[in-house]
Amino acid sequence: MNITANLQQIKSTIPAKVTLVAVSKTYPNTSILQAYEVGQRVFGENKVQELVEKYESLPKDIEWHMIGHLQSNKVKYIAPFVKLIHGVDSLKLLQEINKRAEQNHRIIDCLLQVHIAQEETKFGFDENEVIELLKSDEIKTLKNINVIGLMGMATNTENETLVRNEFKNLKQLFDKLAAFNLQLSTLSMGMSNDYKIAIEEGSTMIRVGSSIFGSRNYH
Ligand SMILES: *Cc1c(COP(=O)(O)O)cnc(C)c1O
Repeated sequence: MNITANLQQIKSTIPAKVTLVAVSKTYPNTSILQAYEVGQRVFGENKVQELVEKYESLPKDIEWHMIGHLQSNKVKYIAPFVKLIHGVDSLKLLQEINKRAEQNHRIIDCLLQVHIAQEETKFGFDENEVIELLKSDEIKTLKNINVIGLMGMATNTENETLVRNEFKNLKQLFDKLAAFNLQLSTLSMGMSNDYKIAIEEGSTMIRVGSSIFGSRNYH
């Protein structure tokens, strides 16, 4: 895998306003450093322990994003440094992030994960839950979190029309929230297989792993 070439190729085809999160889960530090050396600073991980280990051993100007499912009891390990948490799927988790952020004298940016796929296994809020939560008084009391947008994962399928429609739905919700005067800047959607469609449908942040680093070996 030529990480440098892959990265440069992707960067040259996406609009400048779209943020590329290089998803480095399962890949070694040497791979991350190759991307770092050509200017990549935003990396995403989906496991707390791996994220902490990489944070500790790699350059401190890397922006680390937690993109996977996050359990409340593990928030404390990443609260000192995490830049953005993509997969927030409950008020309870948001409250825990707020508490740990406060202890660290930080404000942590979060994305609410919205369930857009047909698959049962994907986590996330449904549309009405997102609207209720963002309009609630409860969220206003959480001073150490900042909900800056939404995140979604499309169905893992070859069916492009289905994927496109799922992204369209998420973008519609995103726009609807803007109309309520809820200031959201970030729409995280699109992975290696579907980021081109996601960008066409309004993504502002894509999470790409295997197209940069090669296919993963899970042990
Ligand atoms: C692994 C992962 C990605 C990246 O997947 P690729 O297919 O390797 O690009 C994106 N988002 C989430 C939430 C992931 O867990």
